[in-house]
Amino acid sequence: MNRDDALALDAADPLAPLRAQFTLPPGLIYLDGNSLGLCPAAAPARLRQVVEQEWAQGLIASWNQAGWISLPQRVGDKIARLVGAGAGELVVADSTSVNLFKVLSAALDLAAAAGPQRRVIVSERDNFPTDLYIAQALAAARGLELRLLEQPGPLAAALDARTAVLMLTQVNYRNGRLHDMAALSAAAHAAGALTVWDLAHSAGALPVDLHRDGADFAVGCGYKYLNGGPGAPAFVWVHPRHAAQVRQPLAGWLGHAAPFDFAPDYVPAPGIARFVSGTPPILSLAALECGVDSVLAAEPLGGLAALRAKSLALTRLFAQRVEALAPATGPALTLASPRADAERGSQVCFSHPEIGYPVMQALIARGVVGDFRAGAAGEADILRFGFTPLYTRFVDAWDAAAHLGQVLALEEWRRPGFDQRRAVT
Ligand SMILES: *Cc1c(COP(=O)(O)O)cnc(C)c1O
Repeated sequence: MNRDDALALDAADPLAPLRAQFTLPPGLIYLDGNSLGLCPAAAPARLRQVVEQEWAQGLIASWNQAGWISLPQRVGDKIARLVGAGAGELVVADSTSVNLFKVLSAALDLAAAAGPQRRVIVSERDNFPTDLYIAQALAAARGLELRLLEQPGPLAAALDARTAVLMLTQVNYRNGRLHDMAALSAAAHAAGALTVWDLAHSAGALPVDLHRDGADFAVGCGYKYLNGGPGAPAFVWVHPRHAAQVRQPLAGWLGHAAPFDFAPDYVPAPGIARFVSGTPPILSLAALECGVDSVLAAEPLGGLAALRAKSLALTRLFAQRVEALAPATGPALTLASPRADAERGSQVCFSHPEIGYPVMQALIARGVVGDFRAGAAGEADILRFGFTPLYTRFVDAWDAAAHLGQVLALEEWRRPGFDQRRAVT
């Protein structure tokens, strides 16, 4: 394979037109859509309309007339189509961290009602830190045990009659490892436990089927593969068999059955709407809707199944190209993501014991944007490359690998300043 072959793959790619939905600085190879998705070209005009018409002119009337009040449900119904959830089962609200607090608390209530012996939350030590911190806080507040499994380990074997909740992120943020949601949910249910899934690195990147795969609760992120913009609100889903009976710990007026009765006592809304706490951020929701629409635009072209096939082809190509560089670049880089397609999300990571940070800075200086994640204790640092199939081309994967080879071969990472760590890595 050569660069022309990569160009030919792009020319034959039925998803290629979707890239035109985004604004991308010229010359940039953007492989960080797993941290912050691209800006949909429709977003600036939509935001201008919301600010100049709906807000400045419509003012308070826009809660009804522009449909602001139902925006968390409207955008939620669109996201539901991407994750195998039904209409009316998913809402947009708050951040992923806050929603995790809500659903984990609700799940722990259900588990406690099922039996007093269910006192353990099971997760993984290399889960995303916010997920661990939320679980630590709830475990401490309730006197429960948080059991963190080391990787790689047989997760299902850790579940037993003491397990209350299995809380996992479907695709690992650091190495891109993809869990088998169906198998793990089945194992959790066989042990009498509930599941909480964080879809931060899977919603919008690969087919997710919450109903088919037996999830009980799920949360996900708006600003990664959903392209909702910096700090976009997150989403929360609860299986309908639980939604009408669970208690939401952050009970607020907009999750009340009748908010405009202004009643002094809380009565939860009938279903998922109770997971809305306070007033939704309308500007952010408007931007998120543009981002979600950019993913839904793939539906007539095969939807997430087609995006997944392209994502796997992209990540395979990039990993192979980087590994092919090895003789010229020394022994340095080690593939840190699973090689098997079925075990890999939409990102490829390489670890390096020493120079991961300056290598990424040198790549960024060449216009190839990935990011850097410090290694877990005792592990090498990680160079992360996210491949968002909506807008990443095969030639981008080819060129990014070539740039990485040049950075190493020419030792560009030694340039002064490239080892200066910034607040966001
Ligand atoms: C990105 C990410 C989050 C982000 O949480 P915020 O509350 O939006 O900061 C949470 N969990 C995982 C697994 C993530 O990858």
